[in-house]
Amino acid sequence: MPDWDAVIIGGGPAGLTAAIYLGRFRRQALVIDDGTGRAERIPKTHNHPGFPGGIEGDTLVARIREQAAEYGANFLKACVTDLKREDAGFLLETSQGEIRAPFVILASGSKDNDPALPGVESAVDRGLIRLCPICDAYEVIGKRIGILGNGPKGVREAQFLTTYSDDVTLIHLDPENPLSPDDKSTLEREGIALMESVIDAVHIENDAIEAFDIGGEEHRFDVIYGALGLTPRSELAHRAGAATTDDACMKVNAHQETSVSGLYAAGDLVLGLNQISIAQAEGAIAATDIHNKLRAMEREDGRIREPLPDECPPQKAG
Ligand SMILES: Cc1cc2nc3c(=O)[nH]c(=O)nc-3n(C[C@H](O)[C@H](O)[C@H](O)COP(=O)(O)OP(=O)(O)OC[C@H]3O[C@@H](n4cnc5c(N)ncnc54)[C@H](O)[C@@H]3O)c2cc1C
Repeated sequence: MPDWDAVIIGGGPAGLTAAIYLGRFRRQALVIDDGTGRAERIPKTHNHPGFPGGIEGDTLVARIREQAAEYGANFLKACVTDLKREDAGFLLETSQGEIRAPFVILASGSKDNDPALPGVESAVDRGLIRLCPICDAYEVIGKRIGILGNGPKGVREAQFLTTYSDDVTLIHLDPENPLSPDDKSTLEREGIALMESVIDAVHIENDAIEAFDIGGEEHRFDVIYGALGLTPRSELAHRAGAATTDDACMKVNAHQETSVSGLYAAGDLVLGLNQISIAQAEGAIAATDIHNKLRAMEREDGRIREPLPDECPPQKAG
């Protein structure tokens, strides 16, 4: 007999939203989290609907967690180290022991490929180094923006940021692989400066300015965007045999189910836009499908039954 109706791996916006829905479906859900999520890195989100004036990432996560607890969600602080498909569901190995469940939602997010700069964590916290222009470029309108990136991805991110500032510089980090002539002419056409020299030193000054010494010269920016991508935390899905894209993002169907029956994925590790609102929507979809599947199983083994025709409520007179 499994311990839980569903186990959710990851207590970020995706996993906790799934926990709220499962709790309100009167299901026993366990959220396992190791406390290393992206949402908690957000200094303040201004694009998440429902929070005029914005809300800090850790406050938002704490509030969603509190709401999940109101509906009976259970929490375990642990790291899930292995996930196996078994006949009746899944076996999870965790730093706190083994857990079994018929359904699993993988909501383990992605890891930012942070730029290798000194003091990066505190600079992210202060909004001096940023990682997601879709999230927060509105907050840097008119500022001097540097983008640390390579190849076409760096070029695309620089192009995106020209909506917000006329002072955009792509700092191309990989001198071994210079930009193509096409990429260079795109930058020129869009008024984006290019630096291809090696970074010697970085100084983060006060609250606003970062000074970069590149090839001996000093360049100043108000804000730096890291455009080095994300690594989806999909190792557990691989171990359970679920399909991913070439970039290790989870592939799911319209109900967020992966190629392994009973294993769902929601949030940043799924192919698509990495945003809180999307993660939450995917968590809600996964939880609803699991509840429907549990109901079907209960109907099949006689734990619930359909009402007989004469038990139907009387029809309203026409
Ligand atoms: C600096 C920054 C600013 C951002 N700003 C915004 C913004 O303004 N608006 C917006 O919409 N989005 C923003 N984002 C993106 C947003 O944070 C993500 O889209 C969102 O957090 C995705 O939610 P998630 O639940 O999928 O993943 P996460 O929030 O990353 O949560 C995943 C959870 O899984 C847990 N976990 C992972 N692996 C395991 C394991 N093996 N065992 C146990 N637990 C595990 C982690 O501890 C974590 O708590 C920002 C991101 C960053 C980094």
